[in-house]
Amino acid sequence: NSLLEARGIGKAFLGITALEGVDFTLERGEIHALLGENGAGKSTLIKILTGVYSRDHGTMRLDGAEVTPSSVAEAQGLGIGTVYQEVNLLENLTVAENLFLGRQPRRFGLIDRREMRRRSKALLERYGLDIDVDALLSTYSVAIRQLVAIARAVDLSGKVLVLDEPTASLDAHEVEMLFTVLRRLREEGLGIIIITHFLNQVYAVADRVTVLRNGRLVGTRKLAELPRLELISMMLGRELQHITR
Ligand code: ADP
Ligand code: MG
Ligand code: MG
Repeated sequence: NSLLEARGIGKAFLGITALEGVDFTLERGEIHALLGENGAGKSTLIKILTGVYSRDHGTMRLDGAEVTPSSVAEAQGLGIGTVYQEVNLLENLTVAENLFLGRQPRRFGLIDRREMRRRSKALLERYGLDIDVDALLSTYSVAIRQLVAIARAVDLSGKVLVLDEPTASLDAHEVEMLFTVLRRLREEGLGIIIITHFLNQVYAVADRVTVLRNGRLVGTRKLAELPRLELISMMLGRELQHITR
């Protein structure tokens, strides 16, 4: 079976439909882009998958077992981790301390500092990151802070990683650094869902794409077999000669 399977997902806010009958399937070792114009329902779908919102309709399976995460912590416990734009770390703690945030509070104090530093270093090296784990997080760029947040999310959850517009404030070199980490995670068998508005980035890093429009599923396609103009026309819902003329 697939890593994550959502079927017939529906959600309304105050009677206004945000999602209707949406299917979404994520495989192990896959980077899956979620695309659609503003208001298409992308964020609502991933918030349902990550336990931020409850769903009104539909089912969700992780590793074949039905799940209904009702909080971010619960989704994380099941294996579904996420990093939002407002990266959720503490600037005045060290990199190592940040990596160990979110452990059970009772255990936090019990982890030996040397052991915490050793494990932090090993975790970051696994992703090819040479970062001083004793430095305060505030001494690093947004890009590095985000990579630390991703390393932590993966370490805590370990099956699915969800990223909503992770490249929004990165320069080209930092985007490449992020993608290198994502490819490494894919090799380890993680399933990754990424939202980005930059089609170049979608083609550079993703294996498959699911397109939403007005809260409905347009389709899921392999990017290697999908011409760019066809992808744009899926997103817009019209033939392309109308916009290229
Ligand atoms: P996208 O991420 O693709 O831009 P969203 O999932 O944010 O789309 O929004 C889909 C629709 O749901 C929009 O019409 C949006 O206004 C509505 N919506 C999303 N979140 C809420 C909310 N918390 N309350 C009310 N309406 C919402
Ligand atoms: Mg939006
Ligand atoms: Mg959004």
